[in-house]
Amino acid sequence: MTPGARVLVLGGTGDGVAVAEALAGAGFAVTYSLAGRTRSPRMPPAPAAVRVGGFGGVPGLVFHLRAEGVDVVVDATHPFAAAMSVHASQACVATGVPLVSLVRPGWAEEEGDDWRRVPDLDAAAALAPTLGRRILLTIGRQEVARFVGDAESTYLVRAVEAPDLLPPRGTLLLERGPFTVEHELDLLRDKEIDVLVTKDSGGAATGAKLVAARSRGIPVVVVDRPPPPPAAVTVSRPDEVRPAVASLLPQSG
Ligand code: NAP
Repeated sequence: MTPGARVLVLGGTGDGVAVAEALAGAGFAVTYSLAGRTRSPRMPPAPAAVRVGGFGGVPGLVFHLRAEGVDVVVDATHPFAAAMSVHASQACVATGVPLVSLVRPGWAEEEGDDWRRVPDLDAAAALAPTLGRRILLTIGRQEVARFVGDAESTYLVRAVEAPDLLPPRGTLLLERGPFTVEHELDLLRDKEIDVLVTKDSGGAATGAKLVAARSRGIPVVVVDRPPPPPAAVTVSRPDEVRPAVASLLPQSG
């Protein structure tokens, strides 16, 4: 690798924190970037530096990459952070800075599952009330507003931080994963949930709800991911990022 090479890690995920920590530990000069949406986000330990806030679209990111002399960008954002990923891809093309994209695999339906895949959250909001009356929403807080037009169903909205709006018959449950299957089974039973709505986020931290829904025969509305934009290298696991970054840098010595 090139000692001290500058790596910008676009984060906001547990995987992003792990990647930033591993790269900093390997001697890269890491800056970990957050949008600034959550009040107490997970942070990588020093020596990784942290910056918070948007760049100002593609032009702002292009400016940042040049001003900071960034050697490699790692996109470790959430699979549904589509705008940031598109901006990163376009800014890297414009500057010639190579992009490593970490895309964790989506969840796969298994025998016994009752999944309904939908293209977006509006489709989820239309479908979920036709499947049951007590709906568990696990879609984060930003897009809960899509469900506020439904005054009939009872919603339990689980998120790390409170959304601006809740559906008329909505209750908030503030919780941060990872969750166990036992925890999720208790939740589904205690709240008498009969429909689950989730994005196809993938990963182990929040996958237990799918096992619990299967075990209780509960239908799951699964929102499909936006397509990932082009990158120089795409990997699926955090431990694959460091060798990918090293492969894109001129070899020292
Ligand atoms: P988004 O729609 O893709 O991004 C909207 C804007 O927020 C971007 O254009 C960018 O602003 C800024 N931004 C996003 N991620 C950033 C980052 N890591 N560093 C600096 N600026 C960033 O993103 P989102 O869906 O709102 O998600 C925001 C953050 O939450 C992301 O970092 C993502 O990893 C995390 N997150 C998202 C979800 C989800 O379901 N969407 C779930 C868990 C975590 P400018 O155009 O001004 O640069």
